Amino acid sequence: MDYISTRGGLSISAGSAILRGIADDGGLYVPSSFPILTNELLEKMVPMDYSERAVEVLSLYLTDYTKEELKSYAEKAYSRFDGDPAPILKIDDDLYLLELFHGPTYAFKDLALTILPHLILSARQKAGEKNKTLILVATSGDTGKAAAEGFKDVEGTEIIIVYPSEGVSELQKLQMKTSEGDNVHFIGIEGNFDQAQSLVKKMFADKKINEKFEKMGYTMSSANSINWGRLAPQIVYYVSAYLDILGCEEIKLGEKINFVVPTGNFGNILSAYYAKKMGVPINKLIVASNSNDVLTEFFNNGKYDANRPFYKTMSPSMDILISSNLERLLFELSGRDFEYIKVLMKELKEKGSYAIDFEKIKDGFSGFAAYMSDEENTEEGINAFYEMYDYVLDPHTAVAANVYSDYIFDTEDKTKSVIVSTASPYKFAKDVYRCLTGNNEKDPMNALKRLHDYTMTEVPEELLELDMMPIIHDKVVKVSEAEETILSIVADKKK
Ligand SMILES: *Cc1c(COP(=O)(O)O)cnc(C)c1O
Repeated sequence: MDYISTRGGLSISAGSAILRGIADDGGLYVPSSFPILTNELLEKMVPMDYSERAVEVLSLYLTDYTKEELKSYAEKAYSRFDGDPAPILKIDDDLYLLELFHGPTYAFKDLALTILPHLILSARQKAGEKNKTLILVATSGDTGKAAAEGFKDVEGTEIIIVYPSEGVSELQKLQMKTSEGDNVHFIGIEGNFDQAQSLVKKMFADKKINEKFEKMGYTMSSANSINWGRLAPQIVYYVSAYLDILGCEEIKLGEKINFVVPTGNFGNILSAYYAKKMGVPINKLIVASNSNDVLTEFFNNGKYDANRPFYKTMSPSMDILISSNLERLLFELSGRDFEYIKVLMKELKEKGSYAIDFEKIKDGFSGFAAYMSDEENTEEGINAFYEMYDYVLDPHTAVAANVYSDYIFDTEDKTKSVIVSTASPYKFAKDVYRCLTGNNEKDPMNALKRLHDYTMTEVPEELLELDMMPIIHDKVVKVSEAEETILSIVADKKK
């Protein structure tokens, strides 16, 4: 399987796409075609465990790795989870939750970021790479910690993570600031995620910067969902969710299901779209947004307009106005028209907005539905879900739960649906506790304990120990200084 950029150019191998992260032209790597999971193969996969399913799916895409290699990476990665990495929970007659927060940092990012370092390390070896790999990451809160966990002390890599200093939850921040590993660096910026992401993307595209790093012995790569090595492992849990529901005889093979996905950078739901393209029977992909509802508008009228107020919400990992991975979807929906993608992305860069040719795209849009949930509704959603199901949702997943209700209200769709649960509520303990009880607990560590006392649900142990860990990273800089800071970190490492 070869990979091409959404903006044209030559094809490269999976390992090279993963090592490079983003194409030189600013485009994103996509597989040259989509392999098909036949019914026979799906049936064969039902009795498999998560790692085995991962090998089946990944081996179709990552063809320059052997099955034995992928097996060893998957086993190493998924043994770091507490039990099943992606359990399905039936919550109501036609409703399931896919819990993706049982990994080392309690958010869905772990499903890919536990295996990505193995893929990068192996690609380095296969390519005989002499330079060190510099992983540059922008995070809206969860990727940062998950990437640090995945890459800490991985030989031949240095990882620098840029996060919005005031745009993540306090526990997310504490998780990041206490991260260990000699090769791990965090930089807080006085700005938002979009600024962090655009800084990182700009550095990838900047020839001079690349040359500077090369001179110091580093080649840049990415652990964001712009890297194909993030998206491929995410396809696995959509396949796995279908197989689990099939395995419990809740559906027949071929029967379609819906997925509702809380969405920010469009990486998670894009993997669901790829699963659908591979033949997993999926009816609708339901795009759930918080008050930053740029995608809701886009899927409903074809206009992408990032020129709008930016809201800080209690689902900070979705506080995003430029959803990078939408480029990959548009690439597919336009019939892989990379000239057209170049035009749209140029408009986005210059004007912050674009409108798609609706005639060209509208058939592809029929597989999606999109709704938003504002802060007030999300709060109500957390309460309603707790009352109805005795289940504590994190604010991101609560956005999805509300959106599911809106979708059902509008369509009366009887298809079985899976809400993708992207984080442990304890990462957002203050907000969840306040929503459930009306009490404001200012201290995040106390909020953690109180949320536990109130709900009697299990607290992730490592979160409880956070206030005993030394703060290792406390650098906060202006957006305009971030590039210099990154360069100086690398120069210091070089000494
Ligand atoms: C990252 C994140 C999201 C958004 O996922 P995208 O792939 O960026 O769309 C949603 N919820 C949580 C908890 C996250 O960490």
